[in-house]
Amino acid sequence: MSTQGKIAAITGASSGIGEATARELAKRGAAVIVGARRIDRLEKLVAELRAQGATAEFVALDVTSRDSVQDFVRFAAERFGKLDVIVNNAGIMPLSPLDALKVEEWERMVDVNIKGVLYGIAAALPVFEQQGYGHVINTSSIAAYRAIPTAAVYCATKAAVNFITEGLRQESPYLRSTIISPGVTESELAHTITHEATARFIDDYRKTVIPADAIARAIAFAIEQPEGVDVNEIVVRPTAAN
Ligand code: NDP
Repeated sequence: MSTQGKIAAITGASSGIGEATARELAKRGAAVIVGARRIDRLEKLVAELRAQGATAEFVALDVTSRDSVQDFVRFAAERFGKLDVIVNNAGIMPLSPLDALKVEEWERMVDVNIKGVLYGIAAALPVFEQQGYGHVINTSSIAAYRAIPTAAVYCATKAAVNFITEGLRQESPYLRSTIISPGVTESELAHTITHEATARFIDDYRKTVIPADAIARAIAFAIEQPEGVDVNEIVVRPTAAN
């Protein structure tokens, strides 16, 4: 029961939950491969982790490109000779009411939050199949369970992540699949909101938050279970959340 020596590839690790997960897993002895578009952030993170004695690598990653995700996973598996875990965590949340017709933002949410996760699965599955083991952890959200105004598309993308993860679990007897469903968590997620009234509402909604390392610890808990134990889902929210 350990994270020590595991190889974990984490998407969306340049801030928030992904960054905190890289820190937590590295602290627990995993080698981490972090990916995102802002490589200056990743470079700094990796330097910091290495200075603490951890094994860490970064790769420029855009999860909307299947090739980019393939390269990310290939790098991790080749560099370390195996891959234990992929954390498909990259996500965006440009909320707005549907009648604002921010169709390009809907498309981006589908591309990053759904297709990005699918590309991660597509890249990791052949590696896991060959090894005979592996762990897919997908960052979903409490938004998967309840549609709320301005969040219809975002909620739908997270509901999709839940169904994809559960379907994968049922299909793959050798593979562990975990849904991580955070409530409101400190991060840069709300920065992608361009609809002004929504941004103001969400600012207020996001006043009660938990730190990103609370989610990272939940991810570490799922990883450190014995191979035969699959933590299917963890929901983590602020104590004061309604
Ligand atoms: P952040 O905005 O802090 O982090 C999002 C991460 O995703 C960044 O590292 C960003 O990196 C990356 N990302 C965005 N687009 C792409 C892309 N095209 N390719 C690669 N990476 C990308 O927010 P969070 O940490 O909160 O978000 C992490 C996950 O947690 C998301 O899936 C989010 O939906 C989920 N979540 C968050 C909650 C919260 O309250 N914070 C609640 C519930 C779920 P870069 O821009 O450098 O590419």
